[in-house]
This record gives sequence, C-alpha cells and structure tokens, in this order.
Amino acid sequence: MRRYACPNCSNEVHFRNTECVNCHSRLGYVPEWDRMFYAMSDDARWHDGATAYKACANRPEIACNWLIEETQTEDHCLSCRHTLVIPDLSAPGNRDHWAALEEAKRRLFYSIEKFQLGVGNLVNQPETALRFEFKADTLTADGKTRRVLTGHEHGLITINVAEADDPTREKYRKAMGEPYRTLIGHFRHEVGHYYWDDLVFNSPRLEAYRAIFGDERQDYGEALKRHYDQGAPAGWDATHVSSYACAHSWEDFAETWAHYFHIVDGLETAGWYGLDGHTPDAGLNRTPGGWSDAGPYGAQEFRPLMDAWVPLTVAMNAMNRSIGLGDFYPFVLSDTIFAKLEFIHDLIHDRG
Ligand SMILES: [Zn+2]
Ligand SMILES: [Zn+2]
Ligand SMILES: [Zn+2]
Repeated sequence: MRRYACPNCSNEVHFRNTECVNCHSRLGYVPEWDRMFYAMSDDARWHDGATAYKACANRPEIACNWLIEETQTEDHCLSCRHTLVIPDLSAPGNRDHWAALEEAKRRLFYSIEKFQLGVGNLVNQPETALRFEFKADTLTADGKTRRVLTGHEHGLITINVAEADDPTREKYRKAMGEPYRTLIGHFRHEVGHYYWDDLVFNSPRLEAYRAIFGDERQDYGEALKRHYDQGAPAGWDATHVSSYACAHSWEDFAETWAHYFHIVDGLETAGWYGLDGHTPDAGLNRTPGGWSDAGPYGAQEFRPLMDAWVPLTVAMNAMNRSIGLGDFYPFVLSDTIFAKLEFIHDLIHDRG
C-alpha cells in the first residue's frame, strides 16, 4: 500500500486514520482519487474544488474513513455498501469484530481498485456483484451451536466474525498450519473464488487453468473431506503456496490468488518506504521510481515483480530473526508455484 500525507499539514498519515495526529483535522479517503481529504470539524464539508464529499454512514459506527460524493443517493462508501449482513451489535465484541473486518475489507477494495478488477453492479445486477455477510455462530433452542462457515458462493462471501477475534484466529492459525491466516488473507482468498467465476470459468483460459491448477470438476465436497481427514501430501510445499491449497483446484487458485495480492501490495509498500532497491522516498505524493506510475499494481511483466520480491523477503526474514520473531515470509517459491502466480498475473492484466 502507498503512503499518504495529511492534505492540511503534510504530516504522514495512514490509510485507516480518521484524524491527523499533528493538526487534528478530520481525514477522509476518496477511493476514486486514492487520496486523503481533510475537514476541520465533523460537520464541515469535505471539498475538492467543485466536488463536495460526505462521510460514509459507518464513520460514527466503526470509524470507516471513506468518503462518497455528496450528490450520490448512497449513504455508504464503495466498500461498506457491499456488506449486506452485519452481526448483532448488541452481542459483546461484535461491533469491534465488524470494524476490524471492514478495515481489512477496505484494504481489499484498495487492491481491487488498483487492479481495476471491478466489483459488479449492486443496483442493476446484484446477483453477480461482490457481496459480503459477516455473521456470528448462534445457539439453537436446544443449546447446540449453529456454526457459520467462512466461504464463497456465487459472489456472496460469508465470514464468521470470530475470525476477527485475535485469540480465536490465532488458535486456528496454529492448528491449521496457516502462517498467513489473517483477515486480509481471508478476504483476498475468498475474492479469488469470485474472480475465478468471472475470469476463468467459461473463458478460453479454462484449459490452461486446468493444466496448471488441476481439474476443478473433481468432487469438491469429497476433496475437502479427504483433505481434512488425511492432510496435505508430503512435499506439498514444492507445488502449493499452502497446505490448504492441496485440497482442491479451486482452493489452490484462491490461495495463490491471495498470495499474489500479498506480493503486489507488499512490493508497493516496500517501494514507498524505499525498501525494494528502487529509488527511496520520492515524497509522499509521488510514486517511487522503478515502476510505472501505477506501481507494482500496474506492472505488465511478472518477472520484475518476483525479482524485486524475493530479495526483499530474504531481507525481511533476516530482520525478523534479528529481533527474535518468526519468519516474515516462510515460503519458498518453486517453478511450479511461480507458474501459478504468473497465470494469475496474466489473468489480472490481460482481461482484454
Ligand atoms: Zn495534518
Ligand atoms: Zn464505509
Ligand atoms: Zn476457498
């Protein structure tokens, strides 16, 4: 992710900030411009010359800092409006969990905007738009737990809000052996299924997809059951980015898709902080050197991304070890994984 400056005082501010710590102006983010705006008080209007903006209706609820054009009838920002269901806010913890999920989701939408992938049309074609529901497990009348399964179905992404509870997620992260089990990781994975439907299924790329990721017509339910019963085969890490990716062709695609998002967003961040070997710190309002204006998100060639990424991960792992933490990037990218990532790169960039 890029860096931002407060438009009032030029102090560095962050993507999630609702207020500048230096000049105390209110901050709002306009995704169409990828820029921060400021207002001196909560009731002041957000301006950019002729265009006036209003705050997302979720700003007082969960500190969403995104803005929308004042003339729009919509009360919610581009990201929040795609959430159709939120958990019961009277239950303890749910509001914090919802806020954490939306914060991660805004980062997801940031990447989707940068890749120009599109999120469908909620008004005219809601059944093909990207939609989210955040739900909590409930107790039935006879005292049983009705579990909410995180997953994707025809554009509707369901997330169990317990994933936003750090101790719960950490427990699963360890139990499942998933070093990158994070909220943003869940979002990036689940939208991988959505874009598979959109970009691979019924497309001329389906055969090439099957050659790389395997045949998705294999029974999904049986494949998952087998994975949970037996685990991933020995040596899985030579061919897959995670053990879960071995469960089924679709899961391999979604895991690799998420991994590609991690790499590109990580490289963008590294570039803005001068950590990727390119010209450091070109200033908070300009794209750092080495990439085109669109940065790593707009890179047409795949190989330069990996040429920048691999040494960065080696350095970051060494950094983590020097302060006693586990590896920042506990992966080795084989030629097979490289080819999978490249397929996704080409899919995103050659949509024609
Ligand atoms: Zn400021
Ligand atoms: Zn919002
Ligand atoms: Zn999945």
